[in-house]
Amino acid sequence: MVVDKKRLEIILSKAPRFPSPRKDLEQYPTSSRVASYLLWTAYLKNDIEGLVVADLGCGTGVLSLGALMMGARDVICVDIDCSALQIAKEWIASHDFSNFEVLCSDVNMVNLRNIDTVIMNPPFGVYRRGMDILFLKKALELASRSVYSIHKFNVESHNLILKIADDQNFDVELLAVDYMEIPQIYEDHVKRVHRFKIALYRFRKRVR
Ligand code: SAH
Repeated sequence: MVVDKKRLEIILSKAPRFPSPRKDLEQYPTSSRVASYLLWTAYLKNDIEGLVVADLGCGTGVLSLGALMMGARDVICVDIDCSALQIAKEWIASHDFSNFEVLCSDVNMVNLRNIDTVIMNPPFGVYRRGMDILFLKKALELASRSVYSIHKFNVESHNLILKIADDQNFDVELLAVDYMEIPQIYEDHVKRVHRFKIALYRFRKRVR
């Protein structure tokens, strides 16, 4: 019994904020609209229900809770920021889920078995160049079935993503190109809202 897309979006719109967002960790929450689109799509493609899902760089837990609401068997929430993870833990538990675990770790140190699907909105790799690609490589290493991920969208990074996926034996589906707006939360952003293009990707492991 899963929730419909509108209801999912409403619930996810109440995700806790990062109390003091860390620029070095690129802590930008996913909008509930994008999150519910990603989760609903993954659900329709049979990549969530009854499966073990990992949320890498889960922050305050918006994608993790969404995956549980879409029927994931277990969710593993990973973040390097233990205080964000504590917020995620409390928020998810307040929705009466207990089939999740939190893991406070640098994603590059994580070694998990039995993950079917990875869902993530990783750092965009703007502040720490290449972090988006490190997350993607780790996700493709962990997932035995599929990966859903959000990346900044430009030709250069799109081509790099295609190459990495191919090297790791995954097919790539570009699900949507959208805009993301980041409110001015860091002192050196000039505009009040920073708007940039993002792409939602699905990576599906090839059957050999
Ligand atoms: N997925 C969340 C948060 C996105 S912001 C959401 O959709 O709202 C990116 C997240 O990645 C932050 O929570 C940040 O703490 C985490 N992060 C950054 N570097 C990390 C690393 N090396 N290992 C694990 N998590 C990391």
